[in-house]
Amino acid sequence: MTDVAANLADIQARLDKRAKKWGQDASKVTLIAVSKKQPVERVEAALEAGHKVFGENRVQEALGKWPEFQEKYEGIELHLIGPLQSNKAKEAVALFDVIQTVDRPKIARTLFEEMKKAGRNIPVFIQINIGAEEQKAGIAIDDADAFITECREVHGLQVEGLMCIPPAGEQPAPFFALLDKIAKRNGVEKLSMGMSSDFEIAVQFGASLVRVGTGIFGSRD
Ligand SMILES: *Cc1c(COP(=O)(O)O)cnc(C)c1O
Repeated sequence: MTDVAANLADIQARLDKRAKKWGQDASKVTLIAVSKKQPVERVEAALEAGHKVFGENRVQEALGKWPEFQEKYEGIELHLIGPLQSNKAKEAVALFDVIQTVDRPKIARTLFEEMKKAGRNIPVFIQINIGAEEQKAGIAIDDADAFITECREVHGLQVEGLMCIPPAGEQPAPFFALLDKIAKRNGVEKLSMGMSSDFEIAVQFGASLVRVGTGIFGSRD
């Protein structure tokens, strides 16, 4: 059986330890519990343990469990960390508190329009295709600066951070360092980087949010 509360405590302890070692402020690093494809009992175990910040990949799947949890538990902060289609933007704006996967002008424009209609100006992150991988989502590195500016000035979005998923099977450190560099030169505050296998390295390189799924909830269906 997966002991979600124990895993949460363990991941948090590892996070704190790595932050301390590298002179980062652990209190400024948010642990996002990624609950995609997990049974509701495990998600509820994290909520019962007092965890508040969660990540989901799909709007449709998230709609199936989170409205009920949001009723039952105070102060939940829900992040969308998977690809967003324009036709789901309205539902995403209503359900999520942060959208981390803005990566093209069309979705930026649609999101702002939906936020205006809903009277809800939620922060967004720009997803960067940090490993320049053909099949991966995210804006190209060379287009990042212009796109960040466009999101702020043309689409009126509140760009709070950058998000990336480094290529599988490679050392993540250089990619985390590059995300930090792009953020700094654009005056973007937060970095969403690091998953179960590499969140400690991400913390070392200045992550503001790490996204941990299997490390907390066990393997997915
Ligand atoms: C699934 C997912 C995670 C969590 O991955 P784990 O390896 O289970 O920790 C983090 N970020 C994104 C974008 C994901 O899709």
